[in-house]
Amino acid sequence: MLKVRELIERMRENEAKLSVFNAIRCLGTGTVSQIEERVRLSRPTILKYVGELVNEGFLIEKGQGKSSGGRPPKLLSLNPSAAFSIGIDFGAPNLTVALIDLGKRVLDRAMIPTRLEDPPSAVASRMVDAIREIASGNGVPLERIVGAAVGVPCFIERETQLLKPIPRLPHWEDVPLKAMVERNFDFPVFTEVGPHLMVLGEREFGEEKADNMLYIHVREGIGMGIFVDGRLVKGWREDAGEIGHTIVSPGGPRCICGRRGCLEVFSSEPAILKRGRELMRRDDITALDLFRMAEEGEEVARAGVGEAVDYLVIALVNAIELFDPEVVVLGGNIVEGGDFVLERIRRGLEEHGIGEDRVRVRFSKLGIYAGALGAANFALEKAFEPPC
Ligand SMILES: [Zn+2]
Repeated sequence: MLKVRELIERMRENEAKLSVFNAIRCLGTGTVSQIEERVRLSRPTILKYVGELVNEGFLIEKGQGKSSGGRPPKLLSLNPSAAFSIGIDFGAPNLTVALIDLGKRVLDRAMIPTRLEDPPSAVASRMVDAIREIASGNGVPLERIVGAAVGVPCFIERETQLLKPIPRLPHWEDVPLKAMVERNFDFPVFTEVGPHLMVLGEREFGEEKADNMLYIHVREGIGMGIFVDGRLVKGWREDAGEIGHTIVSPGGPRCICGRRGCLEVFSSEPAILKRGRELMRRDDITALDLFRMAEEGEEVARAGVGEAVDYLVIALVNAIELFDPEVVVLGGNIVEGGDFVLERIRRGLEEHGIGEDRVRVRFSKLGIYAGALGAANFALEKAFEPPC
């Protein structure tokens, strides 16, 4: 059998065949008549491509569909084990990695301890090892991987594919991360802005399937993935969603970006931790402890976290007015603040005239894996563009 990527390359050169395959990919399981309704091809042409796709192992014939009088039609479905993709998220600050199959089942996920200050070459080789390990650990040969994608906490210059880091990551300036990882494999490796992949992961694997949603990730920095009218919004530099550097307090403290009063100065995890430690007069607590103490009702912790949440609400009001989302999903350790944080956000939005009937605010259930899952989904969809 030819390698799966060679078969896909050939399929991509044949738009008609790709459309037949994508019809089943969107349907999950379907009959030839259902494919006929979705593509502008004659029945004999569809049957020819279906036959080829079954022989190549992409589709499987699965029993019989409902008869509408005559012989019951054959049911066709995707062979989920025909192909796989891998996603990595860097900047959690750990690496997270996820493996999915052609049917978008999540086969495995893992977390690899990494520090933001580690040299890029070391982090890149950890990514390469992570890809190999998650594949071999799940019995997936590398020949069956259609692609991988890596989410990064900075913007990527598209012409050169070099990372253009934020001030927090000066040692990542101009790092060719895509090339460094890709040269170890036969499949394409994409690099994308982390929060852009997180919103894709949330939409595909999370609880909300809305076509208009925002995903806001609160960690070292604060990023936002924007999904409007069923599409990811990237911006001309592909850097849309830098909500952490929107101004919530004119003339406020200086941010690492050079502006004053950015959201990150008040509501990023390091900012919340600094304020919480000051108020509690304790240096031994982590951000996670602080969020949990606030949730458990510790008054001083609540004051520290509450202040940060109130600034976050200002940024949320602005983002909601700009993008009109049906749902806003929040991720990062802040979810450990539980109902205390969520209720404070909801109440804050209501004070600004934004109720639950206008926008649903949720915590991500994917935890630290939204980015890695979104990256895996991105790589899979890239192989079979147009998306399903
Ligand atoms: Zn800033």
